[in-house]
Amino acid sequence: MKRIGVLTSGGDTPGMNCAIRAVFKTGVALGMQVMGIYHGYKGLIEGKVDYLTHEDVENKMHKGGTVLRTARSQEFKTEEGVKKAISVLKAYGIEGLVVIGGDGSFRGCMELVKAGIPAIGIPGTIDNDMGYTDFTIGFDTAVNNVTNEIYKIRDTMRAHDRVGVIEVMGRNCGDIALWAGIGGAADLILVPEMPMQWDEAANKLAQNKLRGKLTSIVMIAEGAGKAEDFAAYVREHTDVEIKATVLGYIQRGGNPSAFDRVLAARLGERAVELLAEGKGGRAVGIRHNTIYDVSLAEAIEVKDEFDYKLYELNEMMAKF
Ligand code: ADP
Repeated sequence: MKRIGVLTSGGDTPGMNCAIRAVFKTGVALGMQVMGIYHGYKGLIEGKVDYLTHEDVENKMHKGGTVLRTARSQEFKTEEGVKKAISVLKAYGIEGLVVIGGDGSFRGCMELVKAGIPAIGIPGTIDNDMGYTDFTIGFDTAVNNVTNEIYKIRDTMRAHDRVGVIEVMGRNCGDIALWAGIGGAADLILVPEMPMQWDEAANKLAQNKLRGKLTSIVMIAEGAGKAEDFAAYVREHTDVEIKATVLGYIQRGGNPSAFDRVLAARLGERAVELLAEGKGGRAVGIRHNTIYDVSLAEAIEVKDEFDYKLYELNEMMAKF
């Protein structure tokens, strides 16, 4: 393969730039030309394609977001859209493609593979909601971002003897709430995988107050409800003073952690090696600290397993 392309798609994550850099460097090392496709599948359809240069990737490692920009494209979900994308790839002589994104982007990647383009998926999503890989690029940074915020919120909650409930991202996957909750010594973690009734949760906070623990931190993943609604429920049913914070996009921005940078480098390298071996239709991931690959179909199908043991660990620690 002489010329490959790389794009970022769906939600951006810190560490995507490190993956782009690794794809570029590995491609160059293997004697390939590497082209950047801007604005995801939308840009691909529109022909927003250019050679990547060292300048494009130098000194970008520490930046969040993606130098290739990202986008969502309804048109790409149509047969016509995929046809347009293929014609652009053909026109630029791009023989293989690396797609960095979440499971939606992987589905799009499969359409290109079906149409005969060797394409490889690299998992990039802060939610860590892809079951075939232990970690996705951006998750570790998001957890670090949230953990740092927990301590700021805890300071002011303690000053007023209040409970703080912090809403974080994760519609179907409570990993950010769980990991940041443990990192930030949360007292309660509400996630979609472990539906706890709000009366039970409110009761725990009331019990904490009775035993003299006036400040508690509650993590709530967006899939388990809104922080403001939970706070209103607690106020209505107990005498606990509670304040809600929604962290929003600050979770997704900022410098990628060293872990995400290294993960992105390893996944980026493997993705290009697969293309060089003439393999397409694969997704790269990490299992037990080993980089491996599975078919894109399997990557999409494998159910994301919640770490119940980790959840129980937090429950135990919060009890005493
Ligand atoms: P993520 O990759 O973060 O899960 P999305 O779900 O928004 O983000 O998907 C990103 C893009 O991938 C979509 O805008 C669309 O262009 C493409 N895509 C998603 N699902 C499909 C699908 N079933 N078929 C083809 N393309 C898809």
